[in-house]
Amino acid sequence: MITGKNCIAGKFKAEGKTEFRTIDPKNNVHNPTVFLEATQNEVIEAADKAWDAFKVFRKQSGENRADFLNAIADEILALDKELVDMYMLESGLPEGRAVGERGRTVFQLRSFAKLVENEDWRENTFDAAEPDRKPLPKADLRKTMIPLGPVAVFGASNFPLAYSTAGGDTASALAAGCPVIVKSHPMHAGTSELVASAIVKAAEKTGMPPGVFSSINGGIQAGVDLVSHPKVKAVGFTGSISGGRALYDLAAKRDEPIPVFAEMGSINPVIITPKAIAKRSSELAKTYAGSITLGTGQFCTNPGLLLTVVSTDTEDFITELAKKTIAIEPQCMLHPNIKKGYESKGEQVTSQPGISVVGKYEGNLDPNFAASIIASVSGAEFLKNPKMHQEVFGPFSLVVKCKNENELIEIIDGLEGQLTGTLIAEKDDDLDLVALVDALQNRVGRIIYNGVPTGVEVCPAMQHGGPYPASTDSRFTAVGTHAIKRWVRPISYQSFPKELLPEHLK
Ligand code: NAP
Repeated sequence: MITGKNCIAGKFKAEGKTEFRTIDPKNNVHNPTVFLEATQNEVIEAADKAWDAFKVFRKQSGENRADFLNAIADEILALDKELVDMYMLESGLPEGRAVGERGRTVFQLRSFAKLVENEDWRENTFDAAEPDRKPLPKADLRKTMIPLGPVAVFGASNFPLAYSTAGGDTASALAAGCPVIVKSHPMHAGTSELVASAIVKAAEKTGMPPGVFSSINGGIQAGVDLVSHPKVKAVGFTGSISGGRALYDLAAKRDEPIPVFAEMGSINPVIITPKAIAKRSSELAKTYAGSITLGTGQFCTNPGLLLTVVSTDTEDFITELAKKTIAIEPQCMLHPNIKKGYESKGEQVTSQPGISVVGKYEGNLDPNFAASIIASVSGAEFLKNPKMHQEVFGPFSLVVKCKNENELIEIIDGLEGQLTGTLIAEKDDDLDLVALVDALQNRVGRIIYNGVPTGVEVCPAMQHGGPYPASTDSRFTAVGTHAIKRWVRPISYQSFPKELLPEHLK
């Protein structure tokens, strides 16, 4: 049963008086459970207990941490229908998505468990001593990775399971040996509490210290208190640019600045060459209508910007894309605020001079359902107006018609950092594909050839992060097992006797 309380070091409690409720976006009504925001004292208690737990948890063997992660996965599955129903109630997302996202969450937990079963992930590096080296002897040096300390995780609104309470940030931080304090997303506090209860059970079953996991409810102040706490040593965040940037600036101003790995906005440019349009216009229109509307466009990899060089086929392609996009049945958005944001950002972009709305869903809509939009503009107008470059979070895409390849490359060069860039082209294309790839790779974290950017595989070769503002540190990924590298730092042991070295360096 949902208590509406915070989970602090294994105990559900609430001292606070500030109440809130989640929303059922499909029916546009508040859900019955009353949640209580964490007080500053509760945030301090969670951080202090996480620090105490860190002293023990960081010394657990990789096998023990793997057992803990696998137990979390088992407990999440054991929640069964209760979790799926709560997910659907609080997000408006359908059952198939709930079950699929739960599968992804469990897969991530098990992938990190497998990764830390042995110590290779620490990139252990050995330099043998050379006592007779002239003019100076060389010391024995052994380098490894150690955990940073307690990590604050901000759950994402658009992934109530896979990037929230036991999502990729939490799984990778626990795998590294870092306790986690989650600031649950207020839109799905019930889903978060159920997952928190699964983590608490798993910690008890596998003998982990209680402070290894806490989850607090609350608004902006709870997040600020958490990131400001001196015992919190790193932050994981998925959400808006304004939220991620505020937390990044706050962390940088602390007496001891800490890293903030924020994954934020992206419009994910897709270059479609005239030759590709000439050869497969209908197929591309169908595929992209599906990608633009997938999950009501509420994915960080949603293709919000399509770039092409004008040809005789361009207008027909855009018209067909618009027709196919608005023919897809509108879906519910995650929350009234997300719907409001979609409408106001969409209005801001489409009211800019030179933009035409080629297609917009005009049928009746329930309150939180989104009308998909395809708009178009010339390359020259796009180049001079940065207001057109912003993310419209929802089923929206802007097609930019460039006069030639030079203008296309100038546009790519002028884009902000992106999670992904896609190239749709033919083998014998007329455009210089090498030049396009060269321009794209400077702006993005992942390049896709003849595909769609939506659908992020969880595997070691995945890069999910890109130049700012796609993420705050383009050297790291938020998806895949390399995500563990965000929560560790290198340390070298010089001239150490074997008995004082960590086991894996002996
Ligand atoms: P958000 O507003 O950035 O919120 C994410 C989390 O951070 C919430 O827990 C929020 O708390 C907290 N937060 C936000 N600003 C903060 C601040 N200044 N200080 C401390 N904590 C702060 O994101 P959202 O609620 O998920 O969605 C809002 C918009 O963000 C969307 O409409 C969309 O435009 C964008 N978004 C983009 C992506 C993407 O992947 N590109 C993903 C999700 C959302 P409160 O809720 O209490 O404010």
